[in-house]
Formats: sequence, C-alpha cells, structure tokens
Amino acid sequence: MSEAFEFDVVVVGHGIAGLCAAVSAMERGKKVAVLERAPEDDSGGCTRYTEAYLRLKSEDELSDDFEEILAQCGVSSASPNIVQAMAQAPEQWSGVVRSSAVTDPDFIATFARETIPTIQWLKDKGIRFIATHLPHITLRDHTPMIVPSGGGLAMQEALLASAVKGGVSFFYETAARGLMQDAQGKITGVEAVSRNNRPMQFHAGSVVLACGGFEGNPEMLARYMGQAPPISARSRRDAISTWEMASRWRKPPARRSAVTTTPITPPRSTSAPGAPRPRCWCFHTASW
Ligand SMILES: Cc1cc2nc3c(=O)[nH]c(=O)nc-3n(C[C@H](O)[C@H](O)[C@H](O)COP(=O)(O)OP(=O)(O)OC[C@H]3O[C@@H](n4cnc5c(N)ncnc54)[C@H](O)[C@@H]3O)c2cc1C
Repeated sequence: MSEAFEFDVVVVGHGIAGLCAAVSAMERGKKVAVLERAPEDDSGGCTRYTEAYLRLKSEDELSDDFEEILAQCGVSSASPNIVQAMAQAPEQWSGVVRSSAVTDPDFIATFARETIPTIQWLKDKGIRFIATHLPHITLRDHTPMIVPSGGGLAMQEALLASAVKGGVSFFYETAARGLMQDAQGKITGVEAVSRNNRPMQFHAGSVVLACGGFEGNPEMLARYMGQAPPISARSRRDAISTWEMASRWRKPPARRSAVTTTPITPPRSTSAPGAPRPRCWCFHTASW
C-alpha cells in the first residue's frame, strides 16, 4: 500500500534546476515538495560539482555571442528547412524536425531574456558572483565570464536555506519512478519509492522534472548517445532520468546535442573550505 501525500507542486531533483523551481513556486505561495534520490549530504547531482562558469560580461550583461554559442552548441547538421520548420508550434513539428539536432530557438530566446533577471533573483538569495578572465578549460577563447563565489555548491546551499525557511518539504532517498496520470492523460503527480523500497504517491497539480542528465548511466548513454562509458560519476544516481519519465508520458523530441568531456575540479563550498577535491569528468549537453 502506497503512502500518499498532497502538494501543489512536486519537484523531482535537488540540483540547481530543481531548487530554483521549488523556491520560485514557494515564493508564489505554493505548497512544494522536493524529491531527491540521494541522501541529503550527497544531493545535488552535477550542481554540487560544477564551478558554474557563466558566459556573461557582468551580472548585468550577457556576452555578445551568448545566443550564437547556444545555437552552435545544439547544431550538428542544420538544414535551413528544419530551422524554418521550428518556427511552428512544437505540436506541429514533424518527426524529422523533432529528431533534429537543433536547439529550439524559443528556448534560446527565453534563456537570453531571463538570464539577467535570474542572476538578480539569485543575488537576492545571498549568492555572490565574481568576474573571471581565467580561460575555461573547455573553451578556446578568453571570453570574460562570471562565476558564483563557491561554485554550484554555494548556490545549492543558498537556495536550500531559502526553501527550508519558506517551508518547502524535502524527501531525501526518495526516487521518482514515474508520472501519475488520469484517464485523459493529464499528469496528476509522481510515483516514488523510499530507501526501503516503500512505495509513495505524491499528488500534485504541477510536476517539475529536474533530475539532470544521464551521463552516469551507461545503458542510456549507449542507447541515446552511442557512447557506453559513464562520463560523470556524479550522475550515477540518474538511473531513471527526466528523459525516461517524460518519454513514457509523451513522445519526446529525440534530440542529440554537442557533448564535451572535461577533467574537472571537485566541489567547493562556502561551508566546507577544506573539503577534499577528487577528480571527475564534466559532460555538457547543450540542447537536451
Ligand atoms: C564537473 C562539472 C563542471 C561543470 N561546469 C559547468 C560550467 O562551468 N558552467 C555551466 O554552465 N555548467 C557546467 N556544468 C553543467 C552544470 O553543472 C549542469 O548543467 C547543472 O548543474 C545541471 O543541474 P540540474 O539541476 O539540471 O541537474 P543536477 O545538478 O544533476 O541535479 C539532478 C538531481 O536529481 C536527482 N535525481 C535524479 N534522478 C532522480 C529521481 N528519479 N528521483 C529523485 N531524484 C533524482 C539527482 O540525484 C540530482 O541531485 C558542469 C557539470 C559538471 C559535472
């Protein structure tokens, strides 16, 4: 028998995407739950380990090539016909368009429009950004960038503090297994299991899947990228990802994207200055 819970919004994943969604919904007065398959002290997937270089000239200005680079990252074979067809509503995209390696122009425009307001919103949570001219290890140029002081982990900690203060409920060691739907196919919540394999049901009007990528999942890497070895050990918990859950609900756009791997430095935290810094690998997917 499943244990059942009721929320307005259920967020799956405790990385930067999930925490931003949870705090944002909380600020709009919603009753929010965050499900995270990892234990509390190991939550946060890639976010915990990223330096989080951002391609901005300053907190107030995008780099000149911000949109251009995003578009380039998602294109491996751009046909003008496909780019033109993407101007239609996504529901009207043909299978060929859906399966093309082209980043949705709406996604890029939204990203460009919302980045500066989002930086300001993050600053309100106590996150500080600093400019850096150090070359990023994956980039050929020396574009000025900004980074959050303390990297991704510092952002995670600041957002977590806001969420806890605002009454968001956290369920650690709780893995989402699938989406719940009514007879019309409308999503009504999330099915999950706790550490002891106890089934749980989270009923909610809105569900946000923010479970990261599948760079730690050899089977999915082989299936979707044709590449078997796991790239980021940090994502080993993504045994079932956003992609998998959403694809069971509705046919997803089968997109590939630019991928790079990078040897990286490990987590830095404002609260753990002496933390060990093991090595792992970075995996960038620009248009999933
Ligand atoms: C080493 C490294 C360096 C990077 N450097 C940069 C950089 O400089 N600039 C940049 O922009 N990006 C960088 N990135 C990429 C960036 O870190 C990620 O794109 C970003 O952190 C992804 O955030 P997310 O919230 O989507 O996913 P994640 O941070 O991966 O969080 C996903 C969470 O979901 C949880 N989860 C997964 N499946 C389930 C489930 N079924 N049920 C419940 N919970 C689940 C996971 O445990 C995890 O906590 C880097 C990544 C790495 C690994």
